[in-house]
Amino acid sequence: MNIHPKVTPIYQTSVFKFGSLAELEEYYTAPSHNGRYCYSRAENPNTDELVNEVARLEGAAGGGVATGSGLGGLLAAVAATCQAGDHILCPEELYGGSVVLLTQEMTRLGISTDYVPLAELYDLGRWVKPTTRLVLAEVLSNPLLTVLDGPRLAAACREQGVKLLIDSSFTSPILTRPLSWGAAMVWHSATKYLGGHSDVMAGVVVAADEALGHRLRQVGTNLGLTLAPMESWLTVRGLKTLRLRMRQHSENALAVARFLAAHPAVAQVYYPGLETHPGHDLAQAQLLNGLFGGMMSVRLHNDTAEGADAFFQRTQLFPLAPSLAGVASSSSYPLGTSHRGVPGERRQALGITAGLIRLSVGVEEVEELLADLGQALGG
Ligand SMILES: *Cc1c(COP(=O)(O)O)cnc(C)c1O
Repeated sequence: MNIHPKVTPIYQTSVFKFGSLAELEEYYTAPSHNGRYCYSRAENPNTDELVNEVARLEGAAGGGVATGSGLGGLLAAVAATCQAGDHILCPEELYGGSVVLLTQEMTRLGISTDYVPLAELYDLGRWVKPTTRLVLAEVLSNPLLTVLDGPRLAAACREQGVKLLIDSSFTSPILTRPLSWGAAMVWHSATKYLGGHSDVMAGVVVAADEALGHRLRQVGTNLGLTLAPMESWLTVRGLKTLRLRMRQHSENALAVARFLAAHPAVAQVYYPGLETHPGHDLAQAQLLNGLFGGMMSVRLHNDTAEGADAFFQRTQLFPLAPSLAGVASSSSYPLGTSHRGVPGERRQALGITAGLIRLSVGVEEVEELLADLGQALGG
């Protein structure tokens, strides 16, 4: 065959052939298998292309693993670094799915987690135990976009001899490079910005060093966390426009945030690109390319479920769809989804009120977004 496709084809195969025992031997003994593949649970050209591209964008010399969902990536990171008896620390404002994985499932397997308010987590010496192996934190929190001081947390982790895992799903490598702060691993729900089109579920975790990257690949294979070839291919296709998309998401979101901040129906806008956001200076110092991402939350003056529902029913361009980061805008309702199980008093303390709406701003023509938001807010 003399076919030279410009784009990597989809290797939709579970297994690869060998012509002889010598070739099989070569697979098992040659460095990097001499370019050979054997079984797609362990490796597949499409999955490799995805991991290599994310590792390149993150500056991750150790490479890593792609998983069948974002949460599979967290499981890989925990399995690669912890065993029964070990302990993990996280900020309180953690993504709900991560909390469920850690608290409901990992605790059962003997790995415990404590949650600390982010502002107090930097004082890591107060919280670490002799068994603490991992700190997990997000660059921008959900839904109020609290900004992490990544270099400060990374320095505290280094001092305590604990590995730092950063969930960069809200930011992508266009906005942050957590390994450059000294994090050990960076994790993405590739379902979000890396894929970017709301049509694939995937996760990627990459590591700064070779040994940890190797361990991530091992646990990915051994626990069967593998991402399928088609999903890998779709995510690679998404990555090709990541830079363009993140620019447009961020530009649109800043315009939307300014519009909403000046709107009479809106009490408060949480967007790190606004000068009024408490994390603005930190975001400006830390986020790359002058971009602040596409995620924000908005509290209505009519801070009730009825007020929020009126918005969800009227908007045409921000459909209520509880995920994020697609090219098409969407909205979600923290009180009814991510923070459903959080007790009322605690929710109030966190600022998750009945009239709080989270927006994922897409890459559409911004004037159309502003017009839709205006009519949906009854202005
Ligand atoms: C969606 C999300 C996850 C989990 O990813 P899935 O692809 O849904 O498994 C983890 N962290 C953050 C911040 C997310 O938004």
